[in-house]
Amino acid sequence: MTFRENANIGSGRASRGGRGGGGVAVGGGLGALLLALVVMLLGGDPGQVLGSGEQQQAPQAENVDLAECQTGADANASVDCRMKATMVSLEDYWTAVLPDAEPTSAILFSGSVQTQCGGATSAVGPFYCPLDRRIYLDTTFFNQLEGQLGADGGNFSQMYVLAHEYGHHVQNYTGALQYSQQDPRGPESGAVRVELQADCFAGAWAGNATRTQDDQGQLLLEELSRADIESALSAASAVGDDSIQEQMQGQVTPHTWSHGSSEQRMGWFMRGYESGDANRCDTFNAGSVDDYQG
Ligand SMILES: [Zn+2]
Repeated sequence: MTFRENANIGSGRASRGGRGGGGVAVGGGLGALLLALVVMLLGGDPGQVLGSGEQQQAPQAENVDLAECQTGADANASVDCRMKATMVSLEDYWTAVLPDAEPTSAILFSGSVQTQCGGATSAVGPFYCPLDRRIYLDTTFFNQLEGQLGADGGNFSQMYVLAHEYGHHVQNYTGALQYSQQDPRGPESGAVRVELQADCFAGAWAGNATRTQDDQGQLLLEELSRADIESALSAASAVGDDSIQEQMQGQVTPHTWSHGSSEQRMGWFMRGYESGDANRCDTFNAGSVDDYQG
């Protein structure tokens, strides 16, 4: 269990202040997640949703019970509620940090999916497509995470993956994502720094969510131990790998560049987690990718 059982994750929740303290409405991110889940339950191909571009039509039957995701207990019990609550929290956090950046959305799929970066199968693992600015998560990957490692049965691993991919969306906005292509190889490369910054961003969100109270004095996440975090990060990287799909790539393929060592990933995540501050995540101006302390 990772969400606080009584945390309010429903639509009627109080606005959750991030570092900027501003209330944030739930925007397109949740809408797209909701839509893709609906299509999946109807047995359709979520990729078809993407073909209609930004003007998405809601399917006829819309009986995904995300509306019943109201508490942290719901998020701990159901992967759909967990993803919804995590997206809402990520959007709140990042809208407070970067008010001008558009939120992203997450598409859950199984089997295969079409994106503006090309087609992908579950074998690719979670990824972010900069062209349509969406996160893609195959549910097979999540099923593998469930019950694998950690006392929470993989719950926080799933949330970490989503937060890491959201980090790539933030990098698409700040321009940092381009360094993956400009400097793709080597242990101190731009590509590694992009990945480690996304880990640090994930940590900053998680740290913020364990310590920031909403208007009703509620915290969203339970405090995570270092062991919790280590098992979540290792489970996520053992089961699958994300790929940022760059513009010039004709199709979605698993990417081959390094993400940094597990020590570096943990180090940058903890730097974000302990501060709750995304401004501490400047991997690009760090002398070395090992300089995550201090
Ligand atoms: Zn990544």
